Amino acid sequence: PPVIGVLALQGDVREHLIALAAADAVARPVRRPEELAEVDALVIPGGESTTMSKLAVLFGMLEPLRERVRGGMPVYGTCAGMIMLADKLLDGREDQETLGGIDMIVRRNAFGRQNESFEASIDFAGIDGGPVEGVFIRAPWVESVGAEVRVLATYDGHTVAVRQGNVLATSFHPELTGDDRVHAYFVDMVRAGR
Ligand code: GLN
Repeated sequence: PPVIGVLALQGDVREHLIALAAADAVARPVRRPEELAEVDALVIPGGESTTMSKLAVLFGMLEPLRERVRGGMPVYGTCAGMIMLADKLLDGREDQETLGGIDMIVRRNAFGRQNESFEASIDFAGIDGGPVEGVFIRAPWVESVGAEVRVLATYDGHTVAVRQGNVLATSFHPELTGDDRVHAYFVDMVRAGR
């Protein structure tokens, strides 16, 4: 089975490790460049993207991460992880770094105060067996995408799941639902790329 790391600088790492194991991957936390070098693919969890960005700089992970993403490593980002994979941000902090990887503009905290946290049924292109439950927590949305990006899901007219090549991102948190189909979709991507 593929070895898939979960970026463990900050965020809901444990839930992703469990979901990946349930989807038949070997899952392990990744904090250091040596650990990153040993995985076939990476999940970037939900959490707080400004903190994650700071810690990535502090731990000397920003450039190694960018390099692996540029090199074609499969990556899946949820929520804050989606923000990390955006080529461009709206409402980001001034000094906030992203890795890039998907030609998209992502708006942080996009759903607004009224709607800080909510759940919704999401039809996900490429995932069978009915809609997935989307857990949104101060979630971003995708404001616009380039020609190479496939939109996999929308909610209320806003793009909430995208894929460009080997890089996948969702505004919501499948790792919090006990439904491992999105993780299984990612593990299939990793297998197909090997
Ligand atoms: N609002 C957070 C951020 O900007 C993301 C929230 C989440 O990951 N649940 O990083």
